[in-house]
Amino acid sequence: MSILEVKDLSKIYGKGDTAVKALHDVSFSVNKGDFVCIIGPSGSGKSTLLHLLGGVDRPTSGKVLIDQTDIYNLNETQLAIFRRRQIGLIYQFYNLIPILTVAENMTLPMLLDGQKVDQDHFNKVVHILGLNERLDHLPNQLSGGQQQRVSIGRALISNPAIMLADEPTGNLDSKNSAEIMELLKMFNKTYNQTLIVITHDERIALQADRIISIEDGKIAKDEVIRP
Ligand code: ADP
Ligand code: ADP
Repeated sequence: MSILEVKDLSKIYGKGDTAVKALHDVSFSVNKGDFVCIIGPSGSGKSTLLHLLGGVDRPTSGKVLIDQTDIYNLNETQLAIFRRRQIGLIYQFYNLIPILTVAENMTLPMLLDGQKVDQDHFNKVVHILGLNERLDHLPNQLSGGQQQRVSIGRALISNPAIMLADEPTGNLDSKNSAEIMELLKMFNKTYNQTLIVITHDERIALQADRIISIEDGKIAKDEVIRP
């Protein structure tokens, strides 16, 4: 079953002579439980695609369906709720809220929606991420690798349909990068969590089951490397 369908997606920034076509008619679909890397050089349109998959921008044309919901048919309020429940976003610089503890950062998206946090699920995720002893700490009391674990926890706490990571290891040393990739792959393989990672790093991309290469706003290659 496809959990993500991208249909003829295009994005043009600006108007007239200065318009930039960042994405042209991109189409692909991703099955539940897949691990896909989207790779491409700087300026190829990766961030634009990520923002469109994550519901944080709107396309010029085309559709994004996540678990059968046409997300750009939703109004802003509905889209914000859908995003917090169904799209787990992980950023290069973690985007944690500095004045909130680890536990508060992890549960904030659910609390904003008035959803009850499933304590068993929360405890399980915290345990896997090795954050048991860190729940009352503030982000600046943690190492970079630990901050990224918190952001993975925040992304997973609502059991999202897809997990979307933007250069998740881009700010980490090689040991922490490897640990974060192992954790992401563990959630993917053990819990069938669909995972999409955007990267410019071929070593990261080669860990995926499938690599979609983007060049000049188009899909240049789409290869399954682990069937
Ligand atoms: P990547 O993430 O692969 O580096 P981007 O999606 O950031 O690529 O950029 C794709 C193209 O769109 C580039 O030519 C970039 O300059 C342009 N672009 C990105 N964001 C904007 C914006 N907000 N306004 C105008 N042009 C933009
Ligand atoms: P890592 O092993 O992830 O590279 P570090 O070497 O940065 O982590 O940190 C080692 C230990 O020190 C970690 O347990 C981390 O929580 C703790 N630590 C790192 N930075 C700080 C800080 N600013 N305040 C308190 N504890 C910290």
